[in-house]
Amino acid sequence: MSTSKFDAIVVGGGIVGCTAAYFLARKGLKVAVVERKSLACGTSSKSFAWINGTSKTADESYHRLNAKGLAGYCDLAVEFGEQALGLHPAGSLQIVRTSDATNLATSREKLRQLEALGYPATWVDNNALRTMEPHLSLTDDAEGLYAVSDMNLNAPHFVRFMAEQVRALGGAVMEGCAAQALEAREDGQITGLNTDGGVLKSETVLLAVGPSTPEVLSGLTGFDGFAARFPMRRVPGLLVRTPDTAPHKFVRRVVYFADGPELHVLPDFNGGVRIGADDTDGMTDTDSPVEELRRVACILLERAKERLPGFVGAACIDECTLTVGLRPYPDDGHSLAGPLPGAEGLFIIATHSGVTLAPALGHLMAARITTGQTPDMLKPFLLDRVKGLG
Ligand SMILES: Cc1cc2nc3c(=O)[nH]c(=O)nc-3n(C[C@H](O)[C@H](O)[C@H](O)COP(=O)(O)OP(=O)(O)OC[C@H]3O[C@@H](n4cnc5c(N)ncnc54)[C@H](O)[C@@H]3O)c2cc1C
Repeated sequence: MSTSKFDAIVVGGGIVGCTAAYFLARKGLKVAVVERKSLACGTSSKSFAWINGTSKTADESYHRLNAKGLAGYCDLAVEFGEQALGLHPAGSLQIVRTSDATNLATSREKLRQLEALGYPATWVDNNALRTMEPHLSLTDDAEGLYAVSDMNLNAPHFVRFMAEQVRALGGAVMEGCAAQALEAREDGQITGLNTDGGVLKSETVLLAVGPSTPEVLSGLTGFDGFAARFPMRRVPGLLVRTPDTAPHKFVRRVVYFADGPELHVLPDFNGGVRIGADDTDGMTDTDSPVEELRRVACILLERAKERLPGFVGAACIDECTLTVGLRPYPDDGHSLAGPLPGAEGLFIIATHSGVTLAPALGHLMAARITTGQTPDMLKPFLLDRVKGLG
């Protein structure tokens, strides 16, 4: 560290913090990222990391925020290249059976909504499905919703890449350095941050600590009420990563099976597959015993074996990586992003779908911080919609 004075300090070295720090640094700010352990050690390394607007159609402003996230990755790919970012832009497929009237109607309705929103998506018939994903076990009445612009990400790689760019732009990235307390003037203006590594001076602090937001906010401000009042839950999710499945590459893109037992599979960057499902998420937590994690992971691996002919299923459990990540889930399901009312200079981003949203929220927050004006797109997500936070 050449100096302990910064234009902005970002607390949290996950995908949200490092991406926001990059956009701040790109605007010419001298930025510090403060991470208590190591970059991407939190939820960002335990994520399915499907970049999409496909699963967010209920609310237009939230859908558009997610679509802006996709556009942000496209811009970064033009600048740096997809490989450098760890980006795999191959789309997503959600598979249903035409004989399953309920699921078919839901998927068709989703396609209608996506088309109305101008999001690139189309319906694919059984032949097209078999050509696009030749290694799947499919019934003759399987069809699918293809979202061509969806992507998947090697999120930990991307986080480290963003951190490198922050350094290249003259910023500091401090790992093993926990934020402990904010310093502020009597009028409430933030003046600095007390950390394990000493005091860092700045009038702008952005909190991007994912699922720890309520507790860290309490700790930094000294106001215990935030821990109980901050409107966010932690929703655990199990992710199974297999070893390299060479010579097979079972899926080419994100595949959501809604035509049988639920299963989400995508091609992992190690040559294997990443596997999850919503219904198994509730069966584990961060304190689950290893045996319980293995039991639930075996359910997923056996489901995958059914759908991916040639895949060994639970037989590879010993070589799989099992993680339980905590989704930072705002109570109303939508991102919380903006200044903390009543604390001049303190900003927060807390969001689910943070992999998809990091470039959008990072870009919008950098605009808010540097201009003092709130971009229209950020307005529905400000913290002042929450009663009792200011
Ligand atoms: C199973 C699962 C599947 C998911 N699938 C998807 C998906 O397909 N698509 C998608 O878009 N999103 C998905 N998500 C959600 C997404 O992964 C998260 O929204 C995102 O990773 C949150 O990133 P973050 O940077 O906010 O938090 P984190 O990655 O948790 O980073 C926060 C960082 O803050 C640090 N920190 C905490 N306290 C302090 C302190 N006092 N001082 C300094 N540093 C501190 C932590 O160590 C951590 O590194 C999924 C999540 C899970 C669990």
